[in-house]
Amino acid sequence: MKVLVKAPAKINLSLDVLHKRPDGYHEVKMVMTTIDLADRIELIPRTDDVIQIISQNRFVPDDHRNLAYQAAKVLKDTFGIKQGVAISITKNIPVAAGLAGGSSDAAATLRGLNKLWRLGLTLDELAELGAQIGSDVPFCVYGGTAVATGRGEKIMPISSPPPCWVILAKPSIGVSTAEVYRNLKVGEIQHPDVDGMVEAIERQDYAAICQLVGNVLEEVTLKMHPEVAHIKEQMKRFGADAVLMSGSGPTVFGLVQHDSRLQRIYNGLRGFCDQVFAVRILGEQNSLD
Ligand code: ATP
Repeated sequence: MKVLVKAPAKINLSLDVLHKRPDGYHEVKMVMTTIDLADRIELIPRTDDVIQIISQNRFVPDDHRNLAYQAAKVLKDTFGIKQGVAISITKNIPVAAGLAGGSSDAAATLRGLNKLWRLGLTLDELAELGAQIGSDVPFCVYGGTAVATGRGEKIMPISSPPPCWVILAKPSIGVSTAEVYRNLKVGEIQHPDVDGMVEAIERQDYAAICQLVGNVLEEVTLKMHPEVAHIKEQMKRFGADAVLMSGSGPTVFGLVQHDSRLQRIYNGLRGFCDQVFAVRILGEQNSLD
C-alpha cells in the first residue's frame, strides 16, 4: 500500500517578533494560514530499513538534511519501526521562499506515515513530534488558520479569513531565514497589531484584514534584496487590496477579492517575475488529505 499526502504552503498574514530568548530562538507571535499551493508526497513502503528521498528538484536535499527524511526518522526512532520508506516529493512550492515548503513536507510525511505505519497518533501528538524538526512543522501538521506563539510551535486554531485570492510572486533569489533573523534589530521593531488581525479574521472583516497585514522581517529582507520592494510596489500598482512579504521572504503575496483585478495583477506580474501563482486560502484543517 502506498499513501499520498498533500503538503500545502502557508503565508503569514501577521508576523511579530517579541524578543530574543536566552536559548537563541526568537519569541514570535504570528497569524498563519494555509494556501492551495501544495507539494505532493508519496510514501511507498520498502522491504529494508532505509529512508529514501526521491525528488527531481535540484534545490531539495535527498539525504538526512531533507525535513521529510527527518520526519520519518523521528517516527522510526520514537516507535522503534523497522520498516523503511521511499518518500517521493513532487515540489510545487518554491524552495527557500518563506512559504514553509520543507516544513509542510515534514508535516505531511508525519501525517502520511501515521497512516502507513498504523500508529494511531493524534494531530496534537504529531505536532509535538514535529516541533523537534522545525518551528513551523506543528502549524503545518494542523493546517487551516492559527495564531502561532513561542518559537512558532504553539498553535491556537482560529477561523479562516473570508474567501479571497492570494497572488504569490517569488523573485529568483532564495532567502536564508537564519540570516534574516541575524540581521533583525529586535529593539527597533515596529510591532504589527497581531491581536487586531485575529479579531478582524474572527469578524470576517476583509477590509480590516487588508489594513492590518504586517511582518517585522519584511524590512530586513527588503534591505538585503531591493527586488522584493519592487515586486511589492508593482503588486500595489496593479491593484492588490493588501501586499506583504511572507515569512522571511522573498515571496510577496497580494490579497484580492475581484476576479477581474486578479487577472490584471497576475498578467502584470508575469511580465517581470518568473514564478507567479494565483491560489485560494485553504479553510478547513481536513482539506489536507
Ligand atoms: P520557512 O518559511 O519555514 O522559513 P522556507 O519556505 O523559507 O521555510 P524551505 O522551502 O522550507 O524554506 O527551504 C529551506 C531550505 O530547507 C532549503 O534551502 C533546503 O535546502 C532545505 N530543505 C530541507 N528539506 C526540504 C524540502 N522537503 N523541501 C524544500 N527544501 C528543503
